[in-house]
Amino acid sequence: MQSDVIHIIGGGLAGSEAAWQAAQAGAQVLLHEMRPEVSTPAHQTDRLAELVCSNSFRADDATQNAVGLLHEEMRRLGSLVMASADEARTPAGAALAVDRDLFSQAVTDALAAHPRVTLVRGEIPYPPADWSNVIVATGPLTSPALAQEVRVRSGADSLAFFDAIAPIVHLDSIDMEIAWRQSRYDKAGPGGDGADYINCPMDRETYERFVAALVAAPKTEFRPWEDAPYFEGCLPIEVMAERGPETLRHGPMKPFGLTNPRAPERKPYAVVQLRQDNRLGTLWNMVGFQTKMKHAAQVEIFRTIPALEKAVFARLGGVHRNTFLNSPQVLDGALRLKADPRLRFAGQVTGVEGYVESAAMGLLAGRMAAAQSRNEAFAPPPPTTALGALLAHVTGGALTGAGHAFQPMNINFGLFPPLADDEAPAKGPRRQRGQRGRDRKAALSARALRDLDAWRSDLNLAA
Ligand SMILES: Cc1cc2nc3c(=O)[nH]c(=O)nc-3n(C[C@H](O)[C@H](O)[C@H](O)COP(=O)(O)OP(=O)(O)OC[C@H]3O[C@@H](n4cnc5c(N)ncnc54)[C@H](O)[C@@H]3O)c2cc1C
Repeated sequence: MQSDVIHIIGGGLAGSEAAWQAAQAGAQVLLHEMRPEVSTPAHQTDRLAELVCSNSFRADDATQNAVGLLHEEMRRLGSLVMASADEARTPAGAALAVDRDLFSQAVTDALAAHPRVTLVRGEIPYPPADWSNVIVATGPLTSPALAQEVRVRSGADSLAFFDAIAPIVHLDSIDMEIAWRQSRYDKAGPGGDGADYINCPMDRETYERFVAALVAAPKTEFRPWEDAPYFEGCLPIEVMAERGPETLRHGPMKPFGLTNPRAPERKPYAVVQLRQDNRLGTLWNMVGFQTKMKHAAQVEIFRTIPALEKAVFARLGGVHRNTFLNSPQVLDGALRLKADPRLRFAGQVTGVEGYVESAAMGLLAGRMAAAQSRNEAFAPPPPTTALGALLAHVTGGALTGAGHAFQPMNINFGLFPPLADDEAPAKGPRRQRGQRGRDRKAALSARALRDLDAWRSDLNLAA
C-alpha cells in the first residue's frame, strides 16, 4: 500500500466530500464505511452520504443567508455534495431540498466511479499505527469503540456524547436600553472585568407568565435509542419550571447580586443572563437555558423576555445524542488531533451542526489531507468566508474553558468578523433598520465571495 494513501473513516456527508476533494486533488483515497456490516441507530441504507432525517439543505440564498452562502462557496470549490444536491433537487421554495435516495445514490455513484477512490466496508475501531494521513468523519453516531479510543487518548473532557444546547442571540438584536452589563456581585474573575454578562431583567408578572409558558410549551421527544441524558447540573429549563414556579428564580434566572443601573432601587424579580460565546463578541448564549422545547415555541417564549423582544437567534436550544470533540481545545488549526496528529477530524464530530456544515468541514479536511500528502502547506480560507468562519470557530473562535462548554454550531453571520466602517451600510432611522440588516448581510456575503475567489486563485484551487 502506498504510504501517501489517505484513509477516510466514515462515508457520511463529511467523509464523502473529503474523499471527493482529496481524490480530485490527485490523492489516492481509501474510504472506510462500516455500514451495512455495522449500522448506527439512525441510518437505514448502505449508501454514502445518507440523510438521516430531514431532506433539506436549508436556505439557498447566497446574499441573505449564511448557509446559502456556504452552499455557493462549496459549489465554487467543486463540492460533490452540492453538485449531487443540485442534481436531486425537489421544489421547496427558497430552500434547497433533495430527493434523499437520488442524492445519496448520486454521491455513491460518483465516488464508486472515481479512479482514485476505493470504498472499503467495515468498522475501524482505531486507525492502525501505519496509517499516517487519516480523516475521521464518523459523525454524531460514531461507533462506540472508536469514540472510546479517541476519548482515552485525548482526555476525559475531549469528547461529549450528548449536546445540551442553550440558544444563542446576536448581540445587535438585544435591547441594551433594557439590559445592562454586569457580572454577579461585580466579580471580575479570571480574564473578566466585572461586567462580563448581559442581564435581562423581568418583573414578577412577566416571570410568572414566562414560567407557565415553559411548562405548557410543546417539547421535542427523545428517540427510542437516545436514553434521557439529564444531569442535575444541566437540566432543560422546562424541566426546572415543572418542579415549581420558584425553581428557575433560584437557578439560572436568579436575580441576586445584580443591580439595574437605570433603576437601582428596584430589584428585578428574575434575570436572564447572557454570556459571550465567541471571541468576536457578536454572539451571546442564554446561560443555563438548554431546552427541548420545539423551535417555534422557543422563539415565541424567549421573545417575551423584555430585552429580547426583537432577539435574532443564531442557534436555538436542543438536547440530542451527539458525539463531538471539544475541538477548540483538542484540535489544531488544520483539524488535527493534538494527541495524535495523524488523525484529522471532519464533519459533525468537530462540533459543527447540520448536513451542509458537516460536508463543508469534509471539503476542508479533504483539501488539507491532499496538501499534506504532497508535502505542501495549506493556507486556510480567510475568516471572512463562510468556510473560514466555521473553521475558525471550531478551532479557536468559540470560547471554551472556565464556564464555557463548547457546543455544536450552525453557520451564521455572527461567526463572521464585522464589516469595516467603509463596508458597512449607513445607519438610518428605526423604520429602515430591516433594510440595513439586509444590506449588512449582502455586504458580508459579497466580501465572503470576493475573498473566497482570491483565496482560490492564490492557491490554484479552482474546481
Ligand atoms: C437522529 C439525527 C437526526 C438528524 N437530523 C438532521 C437534520 O434533519 N438536518 C441536518 O442538517 N442534520 C441532522 N442531523 C445531524 C446530521 O447527522 C449531520 O448533519 C450529518 O449527517 C453529519 O455528517 P457526518 O458526515 O459528520 O456524519 P454522518 O453523516 O453520520 O456520517 C458518519 C458515517 O460514519 C460511519 N461510521 C461511524 N463510525 C464508524 C467507524 N468506526 N468505522 C467506519 N465507519 C463509521 C457511519 O456509519 C456514517 O455513515 C441529525 C443527526 C441525528 C443523529
